[in-house]
Amino acid sequence: MTDEAELKRRTAELLAAHPPATTGRGDFLKARFDAGLAWVHYPEGLGGLGAPRSLQAVVDTELEAAGAPDNDPRRIGIGLGMAAPTILRYGTEEQKQQYLRPLWTGEEVWCQLFSEPGAGSDLAALGTRAVREGDAWVVNGQKVWTSSAHVARWAILIARTDPGVPKHAGITYFICDMTDPGVEVRPLRQITGEAEFNEVFLTDVRIPDSRRLGEVGDGWRVAQTTLNNERVAIGGMRLPREGGMIGPVSKTWRERPELRTHDLHQRLLKLWVEAEVARLTGERLRQQLTVGQPGPEGAGMKLAFARLNQEISGLEVELLGEEGLLYDDWTMRRPELVDFTGRDAGYRYLRSKGNSIEGGTSEVLLNIVAERVLGLPSEPRTDKDVAWKDLAR
Ligand SMILES: Cc1cc2nc3c(=O)[nH]c(=O)nc-3n(C[C@H](O)[C@H](O)[C@H](O)COP(=O)(O)OP(=O)(O)OC[C@H]3O[C@@H](n4cnc5c(N)ncnc54)[C@H](O)[C@@H]3O)c2cc1C
Repeated sequence: MTDEAELKRRTAELLAAHPPATTGRGDFLKARFDAGLAWVHYPEGLGGLGAPRSLQAVVDTELEAAGAPDNDPRRIGIGLGMAAPTILRYGTEEQKQQYLRPLWTGEEVWCQLFSEPGAGSDLAALGTRAVREGDAWVVNGQKVWTSSAHVARWAILIARTDPGVPKHAGITYFICDMTDPGVEVRPLRQITGEAEFNEVFLTDVRIPDSRRLGEVGDGWRVAQTTLNNERVAIGGMRLPREGGMIGPVSKTWRERPELRTHDLHQRLLKLWVEAEVARLTGERLRQQLTVGQPGPEGAGMKLAFARLNQEISGLEVELLGEEGLLYDDWTMRRPELVDFTGRDAGYRYLRSKGNSIEGGTSEVLLNIVAERVLGLPSEPRTDKDVAWKDLAR
């Protein structure tokens, strides 16, 4: 059993063999992966040591203190938070060996080809088709709102392989090569002025059967692993006290006494406490995760994250008065990551509007919490026994 002392010993060994001051970033990250210190709860040979997930902090703290580079987790959030746990759970041995190392080191960015113009909340209604031809699948369709597609090397993709069965049953999960000539990525400009996400058109894209993840027709079940992890990845990030949105507004409050009013003070205090409760609840969720895959509970964290981000960024704009209406830059950029704290209050206010949509809308997450956490009666589902091809669209 790998305990705290053993992890410290291995971390010291890594640092001695690859001193951060003289080792290139990429080489250090590869060596860290190979030493099993990337994600310690992953199996040996795949960047981990089969240790309790809660011990990751031991390694991270030691490496940070030694000035070691990290893998810039915000830039590769979809890979780390969604693709990796799905590959780990459903991938073949070859798939795990091929994809996990460059995913973790950040050499290969991943994106998520799930949503379509006619399938967002009702994701199982998706229409992108994958048709078997020999040892490959030929994929045609359109995806939308695909974050990071413009920088991605790989995508997790769900497509319809059998239109003749009910919608949840006819879906299969694939790994798609974003450099394939049949993949066309077009920017979509958001309310922030940036194009952080894209439309993706798939035309006769040939995906070898060796890049199927899970069984044919079992894609919906595989996708649940991705979606449950997505909610935890979006809403359950580890944060220090006053990390996240509450940080900048608290800082402004302290530094700019001339802006303060009694009413705003009451609201700031209330939101500060709620942000702290959400942060600590996230810690508890992460502790639960040390003993298994995330379940529907992650939906609650993501709900709280979206509401708090929108209320806190609204308060910040109000506090700043006229200054809060300024916006630093309307140039259409295509960023590689979402940086809430590195930008101005206007950006935070606008970008947080998407928080209650991405990773499942708040309305849909409330349904999930109602049905699968609280055990309340489910919504009527009239289409669950109807073949997808016979559904009205
Ligand atoms: C910033 C951002 C990044 C994103 N990145 C990605 C990505 O990388 N990959 C990807 O695949 N997708 C991505 N998405 C898409 C996202 O998952 C979808 O937008 C989301 O699931 C909602 O789907 P929709 O936009 O089709 O809205 P719809 O499903 O059409 O919903 C419209 C409205 O109806 C409500 N509604 C729908 N069904 C119900 C119901 N049963 N009960 C109550 N209300 C309901 C919704 O809450 C919403 O208010 C991203 C979205 C955003 C905003």
